[in-house]
Amino acid sequence: MTMRRPLIAGNWKMHKTPQETEEFIVEFLSKLANEERIEILIVPPFTSLDRAGKLLKGKSLLLGAQDMHYEAEGAFTGAISARMLKACGCSYVLVGHSERRELFGDDDSVVSRKLNAALRDGLRPILCVGETLSEHDRVEEKITQQLTEDLDGIDEHALAEMTIAYEPIWAIGTGKTATPEVAQETISMIRDWITSHYDNATAQATRILYGGSVKPANAASLLAQRDIDGALVGGASLVAESFFQIVEAARSQ
Ligand code: PEP
Repeated sequence: MTMRRPLIAGNWKMHKTPQETEEFIVEFLSKLANEERIEILIVPPFTSLDRAGKLLKGKSLLLGAQDMHYEAEGAFTGAISARMLKACGCSYVLVGHSERRELFGDDDSVVSRKLNAALRDGLRPILCVGETLSEHDRVEEKITQQLTEDLDGIDEHALAEMTIAYEPIWAIGTGKTATPEVAQETISMIRDWITSHYDNATAQATRILYGGSVKPANAASLLAQRDIDGALVGGASLVAESFFQIVEAARSQ
């Protein structure tokens, strides 16, 4: 029996106004019975968080943000701090999503500062790691380098508060999913890395998700893998019914 609680997280990226967010939440909650065995999380854009937080108060659907700044406050035009996110009702934050790394210049030292700040300020980070298509033949080297640099300053207690998401960049938004076997192999390699850099108990306690074109049709076979503790879902999380079907696939494991 695993002690890890599955998590299904929906990253909406730059989609949905506050009104569209409300419509999704109302529809999704009408499908969802009180959920305790697995955690379910939506990650809307910043402008929807306050409204979503009010609608989700006391509900079993959790709220997260797509990014945060590592400083608590100050002259950082356009940036959002952990405290602001918590005040909107967020309990989670994505850190190091490949789009932040590739399009907005978040390098490993920035990712590490954000991770440490999230933990310090009481948000549970989901650290995203993954390789591009051209890096795929040296995936272990790439992931090891990201983990080593991103987890700088994170002890075993902090790691237990975190979730890691393995997202092969070639599978994000492309319709190409890693096969369940390939996803399992890389995620088990990440768990082995945690065993050797922390200890086995920490490795067994750390939740690791797969992300990259997860949809209702492939969710069950991915989630059936021994080391895959849930999914980070992009496109398929934008429609309440398809996100719900992925949640159902996780529940029936
Ligand atoms: C993501 O944004 O993290 C993601 C996995 O996107 P998609 O499911 O659309 O590939």
